[in-house]
Amino acid sequence: MLKKTELLAKGIACLKQKWKKSRFSTIKTFVGMGIIWLVLVFVFPPKVEISYSTIIEDSEGELIHAFLNDADKWRMYVKLEEISPTLRQAIINKEDKYFEYHFGINPLAIGRASIHNFIQHKRTSGASTITMQVVRMLHPEKRTYANKFFEILRAIHLELCYSKDEILQLYLNLVPYGSNIEGIKSASYLYFQKSPDRLSLAEATTLAIIPNRPTSLKLGNNNAKIIHERNKWLLKFQKMGIFKAKEIDDAMLEPLDVFRHEAPKFAPHLSLRLKNTYPKNAIIRSTIKKSNQQKIEQIVANYVERIRAKNINNAAVLVLDNHSMEVVAYIGSGQFDNQADGGQVDGIRAIRSPGSALKPILYGLAFDKGLITPQNIITDVPSTFGGFMPENFDKKFNGKVTASFALANSLNIPAVKILNLIGKKELIESLKKIQFSGIKKEEKKLGLSIVLGGCGVTLEEMTQLYASFANLGEWQANRLIKEKPIPIKTRVLSAPAVFLITEILSQIKRPDLPNNFDYTYRLPKIAWKTGTSFGRRDAWSIGYNKRFTVGVWVGNFSGEGVPELSGAETATPLMFSIFNTLDYNQSREWFKQDKNIISRQVCAESGDLPSEYCTNKILDYSIKGISHTRKCTHLKKVYINYAETMSYCMHCLPETGYKEKLYNNLAPELIDYYEQQHIHYETIPRHNQSCLNNVSKNRGEAPIITSPSDKAEYFINQTDPQKIQLSCQTKNDVKEVYWYVDEQLLQQASPQQSVFFSPKPGRHKISCTDDRGRNSYIEIKIFQE
Ligand SMILES: [Zn+2]
Ligand SMILES: [Zn+2]
Repeated sequence: MLKKTELLAKGIACLKQKWKKSRFSTIKTFVGMGIIWLVLVFVFPPKVEISYSTIIEDSEGELIHAFLNDADKWRMYVKLEEISPTLRQAIINKEDKYFEYHFGINPLAIGRASIHNFIQHKRTSGASTITMQVVRMLHPEKRTYANKFFEILRAIHLELCYSKDEILQLYLNLVPYGSNIEGIKSASYLYFQKSPDRLSLAEATTLAIIPNRPTSLKLGNNNAKIIHERNKWLLKFQKMGIFKAKEIDDAMLEPLDVFRHEAPKFAPHLSLRLKNTYPKNAIIRSTIKKSNQQKIEQIVANYVERIRAKNINNAAVLVLDNHSMEVVAYIGSGQFDNQADGGQVDGIRAIRSPGSALKPILYGLAFDKGLITPQNIITDVPSTFGGFMPENFDKKFNGKVTASFALANSLNIPAVKILNLIGKKELIESLKKIQFSGIKKEEKKLGLSIVLGGCGVTLEEMTQLYASFANLGEWQANRLIKEKPIPIKTRVLSAPAVFLITEILSQIKRPDLPNNFDYTYRLPKIAWKTGTSFGRRDAWSIGYNKRFTVGVWVGNFSGEGVPELSGAETATPLMFSIFNTLDYNQSREWFKQDKNIISRQVCAESGDLPSEYCTNKILDYSIKGISHTRKCTHLKKVYINYAETMSYCMHCLPETGYKEKLYNNLAPELIDYYEQQHIHYETIPRHNQSCLNNVSKNRGEAPIITSPSDKAEYFINQTDPQKIQLSCQTKNDVKEVYWYVDEQLLQQASPQQSVFFSPKPGRHKISCTDDRGRNSYIEIKIFQE
């Protein structure tokens, strides 16, 4: 409420303006008004508190959803710009011809009406100006002469404090149209299904004549009578000369086939969300594109209807414009009105398990840490991670696979291996940074299974994550309303890492295309990833191109799993059909290769840089200055006898001759897998049994210490003590060895790695244990020079 002094100032300003306009500008009325005004301002400050229906608009300002107001009435707030000149003319000339000129009351009309009342002995409302009607609608009182007097005072007061446009706007917001429809905007939408500024002259006139007789002139019931009345007024307007003759003629002929419609109910979940977020706004302008929302709602509803036979009852879809991060379409469930299946649950904000849908960010983090490149080989064989034994979706294993294949085929074991390598904290921190609230909450409980869906996420969080891939690694929260300032950007992955992910996720031949997918169906180019949660409770498919990111979740809100449910089979077809609707015939502009991506030759057997032994070389992408530069060790050179039954070390090379041969360095779990699967692989022959260094019990199996030699004696210079090199030769299934000096762990190392130590004078036992517990040792003696 304005302060009294402000009111006073405003009143004087209004008064000055009215003074210039007023036809009745006599000193007498001015003085009278001044006195009345003073009384009014201090006794009855104008009170305009109207409860409006919350309405939700699309990005263009079109009404997409409306709620009843607190009193269960439709009273939609009409904006000034929605009052078109036609509507304004029709209303004013029908209701209050001198509206523009009077000061709230029309003394001539009052006088005329009083005489009329006196003669006829009954009351009419003919003398009411629009302003007075506004007062009466704001403060409904019994029709007594006393109240009438106060109405006059209030009307003048209103005029002093509001412009004519504002008073007309108030009138149009309050006029009754029968039943629970109040205000011209509600009537315009509920009968003509359009905003007031789009009403034709005939329609505007129709809505001008109903307010005083909302019961006898009820649209839909008495349309013929209304036409009659409408045309009567159109003819009056013609006489008044306020519209062109041609316009009047056309309006007279316009049919009136209207009946009452339901208020629009598009985007019901989003509308509820916005209403609850902005409870004080009568109009909330969303970012939704009505035509897209409408089409996609229909697609989702039809889709849910089709899959219902499989006992899959819910689906949710979120479409984001990658550039503006505006929500283009928001479908919280397939059928909002279906209470039995929880249709009112907002599937976009429901917390669900993501299945494999978080894997791309994990691979992105590994690319950014330089740990892997797309062609790096990862073993997909049974593996245990501190008691956790992940399985693949199809319960099969693929042996050696590239990182690219592992991500595109959503293999679980390679993903857990990578997570184990970079540490779950890294992934969790990245997700927390981009507002994964469920993950933030449960952080402490999460294990390596997070990357297989062992965590809670929402479709909104997931779609925003994928939109960050489309935005070259920069994450932004989505925008639901037009006015909201553009949120801050957070870098989640580097642009080159995202480029690698997009390359992998946009391969055309994809295992996560549904079986029997019709390839003749126009397939837009998109990058996408599916996910299926444990127990087949959630099916995900999230795709992006340069323009849009479409997140699809399908499942049951009840949490019930269904054997037929999978990301590929259940969510991907819906995601594709939405992309086809959205982006039909759009340009196929695709992401350009990042300038920090360079192609390089790698060994096909490992994905590492080729060593002198590697012959099978292929091209791979790498990130300049970031990707690893590991030399391939897929082969190692071993000295063996000609019969290939015995191997030697430098200490036992026979004088009779030997040859060199390259053997595969196989990871221990891969050897286990090959043995289980009866896959042939070449093993290094046993070590020379008469080798002096071969002193272990498990001859030929345990590591052979090739440096120093057993029983060796060293003289160490006290002032410049030299270091002694420790090296060994192991079976090709050994990944790591542990060096001990006098039973104290010195260092953990790879079998190929040389380790150094500074000895003290005396006898020392040096032992080497491989990762399978096989051990050998030697003894050396150190003297001080
Ligand atoms: Zn190699
Ligand atoms: Zn030897």
